[in-house]
Amino acid sequence: MISLLRQYLPKAFPVLMNRGNDQYRWGVSRPLKLGTPGRGGHCGGMEDGRLIKAKAADVYLDAARPYEKKLGDALFRWLLLYRASLGIDFIVWNNEKSTSAGTIRNYHATENTRSARHEDHLHIEFKPQTGDRDHSDVLKVVIGEVKLALGEPLPPYE
Ligand SMILES: [Zn+2]
Repeated sequence: MISLLRQYLPKAFPVLMNRGNDQYRWGVSRPLKLGTPGRGGHCGGMEDGRLIKAKAADVYLDAARPYEKKLGDALFRWLLLYRASLGIDFIVWNNEKSTSAGTIRNYHATENTRSARHEDHLHIEFKPQTGDRDHSDVLKVVIGEVKLALGEPLPPYE
């Protein structure tokens, strides 16, 4: 699902593109190898002696910018509503974190930085197995709902 987020989200929401940091040119972090330093929640784990894919992605939106706040809020809401179909475990965004039941509670960051408070990105953590599947049909529904919420036309799909 991480590569699908990278494929669909920047096309649907061009604000994500060219964030000014080459590492995140598409506005969504790439899958990481197990053991990447400092990126524990992104690296998945071993299963039956083999590496399973990274299981979290960051979507770089800035909650201090009004449009990006609206977009991040809408993504948070709609990804959460479809979390079971998308294989999402939880999401952290702008001082809030979803529970496994799909409710939202305050998120208390361990460090006093905007990044730790997730004010500059959504952290979308997938379940190790289901998150690796192709749920692009559901992702397109989510993108459609977010586009409606923002009053924007639906993106074309090839
Ligand atoms: Zn993250």
